[in-house]
Amino acid sequence: MKVTEHLAAAKGKTLFSIEVLPPQKGKTIDDLLKVIEPLMDFKPPFIDVTYHREEIIYKKRADGLIEEVPLRKRPGTVGICAAIKGRFSVDTVPHLVCGGFTPEETEDALFTLHYLGINNVLLLQGDSDKNPKSNSAKPSAYKYASDLVQQVSNMNRGRFLHEETETEMKTNFCIGVAAYPEKHFEAPNLATDLKWLKHKVDCGAEYIVTQMFFDNQKYFEFVDKCRALGINVPIIPGIKPIAQKSQLSSLSKLFHIDMPEALVDEIEKCADDKAVKRVGIEWAIQQSKELKAAGAPCLHYYTMSRSEATIEIAKAVF
Ligand code: FAD
Repeated sequence: MKVTEHLAAAKGKTLFSIEVLPPQKGKTIDDLLKVIEPLMDFKPPFIDVTYHREEIIYKKRADGLIEEVPLRKRPGTVGICAAIKGRFSVDTVPHLVCGGFTPEETEDALFTLHYLGINNVLLLQGDSDKNPKSNSAKPSAYKYASDLVQQVSNMNRGRFLHEETETEMKTNFCIGVAAYPEKHFEAPNLATDLKWLKHKVDCGAEYIVTQMFFDNQKYFEFVDKCRALGINVPIIPGIKPIAQKSQLSSLSKLFHIDMPEALVDEIEKCADDKAVKRVGIEWAIQQSKELKAAGAPCLHYYTMSRSEATIEIAKAVF
């Protein structure tokens, strides 16, 4: 089923969903399946699997020269989606990114997903290339997520790359995109960012998942601004429980988000990360209860492929 069909079938009840990462290259998929297994008790209708672009690593050769090598550290998003779907009979949402792909490679991946019966995709620009000047880095044909949205929308109409006419065969993807209640870090202001978010919806995005935030007011105000602009698709809040004191600055730096003063004060009082984890879980429970009471369509947890904190939160909220 499509994400939007799950949301419609819930008839206003708030759903529970999670995001996981593919295992690091060399680790088995079994550990990931063990993380997901206990979370299935809370009946997520869909599970997102992230995509990770190739990185350039530097290897010293026998002749002493340094060689650039492209390496995908967490490969296998599409296969992992198929494995999770097969094991738990749950819908999966692969993330697809612009970074390092040609439109032809993207079309190929979309056909694979279509034939696997995976009908949901979250389309993203992708994290930026860590070594943009490297000669070995694959260029990205697309600059913005909206370019991907346009390609998938075309496929849903039977318009494939380099074909003169529309075909009878059509894909049937439900398209999700990302949004940032505290603004995307490259956007000059929130209004401009919202203009481009509306563009993604106008190109065919059917639902939105937000970046993590720790102050619900930011989500509520963001939803109001979207509605005022005519962005009427479901907006699913993303939630992450803090687990380490160092995340006060690392999450702020990495995701360009603000931490509420009350949360920072509580965490600074903690003697160790065990205590921080408790505060993080309690904060996420309060956030989740308020979002649920306000009628959020689904609460989407960034698990980072760990289950304990999300289990505790889900037990308290669902
Ligand atoms: P876009 O929508 O393309 O926007 C990027 C910037 O460009 C914004 O500032 C926007 O305002 C601006 N913009 C958009 N369109 C235009 C235009 N036509 N002209 C001018 N400006 C424009 N990254 C990964 O690598 N893998 C993942 O699996 C992944 N999953 C994610 C899941 C969620 C829910 C979220 C919130 C983020 C995820 N990311 C992931 C991170 C994401 O790739 C980065 O945040 C990226 O920098 C932006 O992606 P986007 O799709 O929102 O970009």
